[in-house]
Amino acid sequence: MLIVLDPAITPEQRAQLLDRVQAAGCQAQATPSAYGELLIVEGDLDVLKRQPLRLVPGVRKVVALSSTYTLSSLEHQQEPTVVKVGRVRIGGGGLTLIGGPCAVESADQLLETARAVKAAGADLLRGGAYKPRTSPYSFRGLGIDGLRLLRDASLETGLPTVSEVMDPRHVEACVTNVDMVQVGTRNMNNFDLLIELGQSGHPVLLKRGRSATITDWLMAAEYVLAQGNPNVVLCERGVRGFDPSTRNLLDLAAVAVLRTRTHLPVIVDPSHGTGHAQLVPPMARAAVAAGADGVIVEVHRRPEEALSDAEQALRPEAFRDLCEDMRLLASVRKSDIPSSDA
Ligand code: PEP
Ligand code: MN
Repeated sequence: MLIVLDPAITPEQRAQLLDRVQAAGCQAQATPSAYGELLIVEGDLDVLKRQPLRLVPGVRKVVALSSTYTLSSLEHQQEPTVVKVGRVRIGGGGLTLIGGPCAVESADQLLETARAVKAAGADLLRGGAYKPRTSPYSFRGLGIDGLRLLRDASLETGLPTVSEVMDPRHVEACVTNVDMVQVGTRNMNNFDLLIELGQSGHPVLLKRGRSATITDWLMAAEYVLAQGNPNVVLCERGVRGFDPSTRNLLDLAAVAVLRTRTHLPVIVDPSHGTGHAQLVPPMARAAVAAGADGVIVEVHRRPEEALSDAEQALRPEAFRDLCEDMRLLASVRKSDIPSSDA
């Protein structure tokens, strides 16, 4: 059971309510949320359910939960969530396009790519400053300097930015320099990081873990939502498959499944999903057709010089053509994509 507290509840009313829950043999855990302070009540609820709790002073709403209830569920909220990143909106029926290099490598590499993705029609600029690499000897990103370059590129082009954070100690630097923080596939289960991001209130792009079920993924989102941060966008980026023909197995069915389970926006990353530049455009178009709220694509001015993920980077001209195709496809999508005026 969830009890949503009235913001004007007095300390005495709160204490009386907690006593009442305890007297009924249940335990309550308080948590802040975008919907007001919540009491999550667990235990044998039979006694409490028979009481007119809604009428108790200081209580705004009482929600009986089914076993599948979560803040991310459609049971909790039917209207699609629209996440605002700067002036850009993700979710609610539109198509948000994100482009940029895998990693920020230098000021001129980033700026040149930022200008190119903007000219191609991208809404947001991506670029990794803290890079998770399989080998510790590979290029691991420019760190704080990379974040500052992203901030400068954003000031110059007007594009909001998204960049990955891996360590709770870097959250503050990230949220002050970029508009959205990405949790990468390797950190989907880094619960301390998710809690920290939940407390920051900053928009979060939560990638699917490499071997995460959709339920695992939604429960990771729950860690952020439960801290009172409703600004979560899910990103399908492929799961571990058995066939090395593609880097990962891009699960586009997940987009359709998520529509039946959550109000959160869902975007797709065909770059990490396939690992090959040639395969990115067809999968990006398929993602739009499947109803994705956005697509994130790695773009490098000269892929042959890229310090990470070179094989999957599109050249700016290829990205421009792809953006045109994706916009066209989005213009003919219809009814099964929820729309919102929020
Ligand atoms: C990335 O976006 O550059 C990245 C490392 O993504 P993922 O976590 O999906 O591998
Ligand atoms: Mn990459």
